[in-house]
Amino acid sequence: MKRIIYCIVGMFLFVRINFPTKASAKDTDYEVTMKQDLFCLMMAYPEYVKGIQYNEDKTVYLVMKSGRKILYDDRKSKNFEEKLAYPDLQDMMEDLYPLSSVTKLMDKNFDPGRCRVYPLLEEVYGNSKGQIERSLVIVNCGGKRYQFNSNNNAAEALKNVMEEVIPLSASRGDIANCLYPANGTYNYRVISGTNRLSPHAFGIAIDLARDKRDYWKWASREEGEKRLLSYSKELVEIFEKNNFVWGGKWGHFDTLHFEYRPEIILKGRCFSNKHEIEEPWYKGVSLEDDTARNYVEKINQVFK
Ligand SMILES: [Zn+2]
Repeated sequence: MKRIIYCIVGMFLFVRINFPTKASAKDTDYEVTMKQDLFCLMMAYPEYVKGIQYNEDKTVYLVMKSGRKILYDDRKSKNFEEKLAYPDLQDMMEDLYPLSSVTKLMDKNFDPGRCRVYPLLEEVYGNSKGQIERSLVIVNCGGKRYQFNSNNNAAEALKNVMEEVIPLSASRGDIANCLYPANGTYNYRVISGTNRLSPHAFGIAIDLARDKRDYWKWASREEGEKRLLSYSKELVEIFEKNNFVWGGKWGHFDTLHFEYRPEIILKGRCFSNKHEIEEPWYKGVSLEDDTARNYVEKINQVFK
């Protein structure tokens, strides 16, 4: 009997410590966002993120499976171009991806998911051409066979998309027109005009059928917006449901481009509502999901 009481008291204390009903007074907007970002990264890359390191000087690192540490916030103030060129995890997670369908082109410098932290991609998908190519598998994309990275469920996610959209496209011309002929997936190359590797080089992006209004460098914003508004919303939703971001939701639009970025989609899914100061940072997370609950608890323990 005594043991049962200890157990119940223990559980009560555990829940109180790790799941405070209110955010503590020191949870500033910055801390709330940081915890939400770390949560999304841990959930999105569960095999690759091993933990968080919180140092006395308040620096925070994501600790990867290899032992590599990736800094959350370098505390440098950067303009738009500098964020693209030298992003930290905070910069990468900053723009909240909208999961609702768009009714206009995004603002010019609003590009959720266009910032990429390369040490993270290298850790997950391979840090050389050879290593990436060893992880590529074939996915059937409506008659064409494309290479995609099998790590972190990326190829599995593309396969799920294709299994849903290919049968749908048989009776839906609007979807077939966006889908065929697709322009490819894996391609070890840099992003044009930069020295940064393209997400295609990691085998985590697919370009669908090309229209001359699909890229911000090819078309005016007016033309880009027209194409955007005519694009199949259902197709976009199926990709997003499977953790792909759509380049059509970037101010620097890339409408034929879909990229597997589970951390960006997860943040849009869990944390799109405005956070009120009295709410815990993890409001929006379903604590009934054991994995999610476990990560919330881990983060609370690190920053208690
Ligand atoms: Zn692309």
